[in-house]
Amino acid sequence: MKHFEYHQPTKIIFGSGRISEAGQFVKTFGTRCLLVTTPPVPATASQFERVKQILVSSGIDVAHFDQVIPNPTTDTSAAGADMARAHKADVIVGLGGGSSMDAAKAIAVEATHEGSAWDYLFYKKEPSDSTLPVVAISTTSGTGSQVTQVSVITNTAERDKSALYHPKCFPKVCIVDPELMLTVPKQVTAPTGFDVFCHAFESTINPGSGAFVELLAWEAISIVAETLPALLDDLQNVKAREKMAWADTLAGLCIASAGVTLPHGMGMAIGGMYPHVAHGESLALVYPACTRFTYASAERQYGKMARILNPSLEVKSDREAAEASAEEVEKLLQKIGLLKKLRDVNMPKEEIGALAKQCMVLPDYEANPRVATEEEMVELIKESY
Ligand code: NAD
Repeated sequence: MKHFEYHQPTKIIFGSGRISEAGQFVKTFGTRCLLVTTPPVPATASQFERVKQILVSSGIDVAHFDQVIPNPTTDTSAAGADMARAHKADVIVGLGGGSSMDAAKAIAVEATHEGSAWDYLFYKKEPSDSTLPVVAISTTSGTGSQVTQVSVITNTAERDKSALYHPKCFPKVCIVDPELMLTVPKQVTAPTGFDVFCHAFESTINPGSGAFVELLAWEAISIVAETLPALLDDLQNVKAREKMAWADTLAGLCIASAGVTLPHGMGMAIGGMYPHVAHGESLALVYPACTRFTYASAERQYGKMARILNPSLEVKSDREAAEASAEEVEKLLQKIGLLKKLRDVNMPKEEIGALAKQCMVLPDYEANPRVATEEEMVELIKESY
C-alpha cells in the first residue's frame, strides 16, 4: 500500500439539535467569546440570536462581529480582530458557511499577532501558540472548513485570494448540526454541495492521498451524487441535509489531509479577481475543462468517479469510464443548475491572460496529476469561457 499520514485534531460534534450543546464546548476555552457571522438577514437572524442565547445562558460574555462578507477580505479580519481585542476574547466562534468560519480563523490569528492576517499566509510567517482557539459551527454543506487548517481570505487591493494554512488554524471543536442548514437557499445549496464533490474528488488525485482519504472521499462523492440533486427539489428535507453535512465533513477531512488540485487553484484565482462569483460556482465553471485535461493521467480515479455518477459505466474499463467523466460531471452540473461559462458571470474576455497567470500563483495546480503550462492554462480558461 502507498504510505500515508493522517492527522485530525478537531473534535467533531455531529448531529441534528446538537447546537444546544455549544455553550459547554465554548466554555472550555474561556468565558469571553467573539461570535463571527455574516450580517443578519431574515433567513439567519433568528439562528444567530439562538446561538447567542445558548452561549449567554452558559455564562459566556458574547460580542457579536456580524460583518463577514462572502469571500471574506483582509478588511474583514482586521475589523474582527479589533473587536476581539477590545472584548478581550478568549475564544472565537465562527458560525456560518466557509466565509464566517474562515474569518473566525483569520481573526483568531490577527487578534494576537503583529500585522495583518495576510502576513500569515502559508508561505509567509507562522502563527504562534498565542492564536486564539476557534469553535466552528457550520451552516452550509459546505467547505469543510469546520475540520480544516485553512482560512481563505482575499486581498482586495491585490485581487488575490489566498490562504492561511497552518495546524494552529484547525478549529478546536466543530459543531455540525444539519438543522442549521434548513434555511440555506437553493442558490447556496447547489454551489456549496458541488464544493463537497470537488474537495472529495481532488483529494483522491492529490499526491497526498492515501487509503484513508480515499475511503472518506468516495463515500462523500457517492452521497453528493445521490443526495444533492434531490435536496435541491426539497430543501427542507432534514435527512438529505444530514447526509450532505456528513459528506461535507468527510470531504473536509480529505482536504485537511491530502489537499486540492488544479480546479481549486483556478477557482481561487477566479474568486480573487471576481469576488461576486461564489466559491462553488467558480469550481463548476472550470470543472469540465479540468476533467478533460486531466482524466488520462489518473484513469483509475476519474473512472471511479464517472461510475459513481453513472452506474451504467460499471461494466466499462477504467479508461473507458474515465473518458466519460467530463460528460458525467457536466450532467451533474446541469442537474444542479451550475453548468455555466465564465462569460455568464461577466468575466471580461480581455482578462483571460491575467487570469491564467493568477491560476498559477497558488501551488494547487502543481498537485494535479497533469501539470498545466501557462499556454495550457490559457486554453483551459478559453474552454471555460
Ligand atoms: P458563504 O459562507 O460565503 O455563505 C454564502 C451565503 O450563504 C452567505 O450570504 C451566508 O450568509 C449564507 N448562509 C450561510 N449559511 C446560511 C443558512 N444556514 N441559511 C441561510 N443563509 C446562509 O459560503 P461557503 O461556500 O460556505 O463559503 C465560501 C468561502 O469558504 C469562500 O471564501 C471559500 O474560498 C472558502 N473555503 C474555505 C475552505 C477551507 O477549508 N477553509 C474550503 C473551501 C472553501
